[in-house]
Amino acid sequence: MKIDLAILERQFALYQTEYEEAALRALRSGWYILGPELSAFEEEFARFVGRKYCVGLNSGLDALTLSVRALDIGAGDEVIVPANTYIATVLAITENGATPIFVEPDEYYNLDAEKIEAAITPRTKAIMVVHLYGQSANMTQIAAVAKKHGLPVIEDCAQSHGAAFEGKMTGAWGIAGCFSFYPTKNLGAFGDAGAVATDDEAFAKKLRMLRNYGSEVKYHNELCGVNSRLDELQAALLRVKLSHLNALTEERRRIAEAYLSGIKNSRFLLPRTRENATHVYHQFVIRTKNRDAFQAYLKEHGIETVIHYPIPPHLAKCYEPLGHKRGDFPITEQYADEVLSLPMFNGMRAEEITYVIETINGYEGRCV
Ligand SMILES: *Cc1c(COP(=O)(O)O)cnc(C)c1O
Repeated sequence: MKIDLAILERQFALYQTEYEEAALRALRSGWYILGPELSAFEEEFARFVGRKYCVGLNSGLDALTLSVRALDIGAGDEVIVPANTYIATVLAITENGATPIFVEPDEYYNLDAEKIEAAITPRTKAIMVVHLYGQSANMTQIAAVAKKHGLPVIEDCAQSHGAAFEGKMTGAWGIAGCFSFYPTKNLGAFGDAGAVATDDEAFAKKLRMLRNYGSEVKYHNELCGVNSRLDELQAALLRVKLSHLNALTEERRRIAEAYLSGIKNSRFLLPRTRENATHVYHQFVIRTKNRDAFQAYLKEHGIETVIHYPIPPHLAKCYEPLGHKRGDFPITEQYADEVLSLPMFNGMRAEEITYVIETINGYEGRCV
């Protein structure tokens, strides 16, 4: 059997007719940028997250970058960020000329709330949190630290659409909930797209200006903005998927439950969910020593897996100027050496799930 990490045409097929109708509606409308589909999606997505406003943008990276910019964070400023994240989170800081201050993860792969305070300095201007793999970070504790130090929180929700902590959605905790709708994400578009959810009217207004060349009124440019607008076609398609997101998330959870109860091989550490947090399983990530041999074994059996992520941002070539070295963030580095994401996607068939489980249970390789 051959199974990829994600087979996107399966999730298109789940609601194909609705997508085709929405696409035709957008195409035939004659209005392609900043129109009624985007306004409707922004309203629907804000309601989903539990916020007053949503601003649609080109990508998740833009959602993060423009949020940092809208808070006037730039050169000389520091932003706390998880060491264990996708590099886009960090790029949003450095793109604005600010300095990322990395903090190690907890056993749930998310920012360790206990270690934030030690990283705060007089230059700290914000705390960025990532709800990695689809599980909410420890938000009550992070929000408490942020409040104590008067720091805004920016949430990277690129992997956590619909995940919550103590019943409150990820994206509803900080000043900005930054979402990506990259095709593989839990709420994926059919191209690039992103958004920021917020309750702050002035912040939302600033983002709306920044995404449109820095102007509210055409040709009156008050800010040095960019072009970052979620187009009508993607908005129309996202509205369809959003209307089914709860069902899509339930399906991911069923796959995760099958993995959690079916995988019985002591070589692997399975994902755990923190008390009071919910998990939407953007990725199902297991850990093992000698990971590369295990990944090769799965590949021989037709199962494609991916490492999220093999090189932590502090060791990325582009961040050599920051002066970090191997050993600076040992927990993050250990995760990078041991994690592996199993196939997890909407439309995954029962026999595929069983095949993955049985193949893993049959692994007898060395794991020390
Ligand atoms: C995907 C992702 C991003 C970037 O989103 P894009 O829409 O691809 O720009 C940022 N942060 C995390 C954690 C992501 O997984």
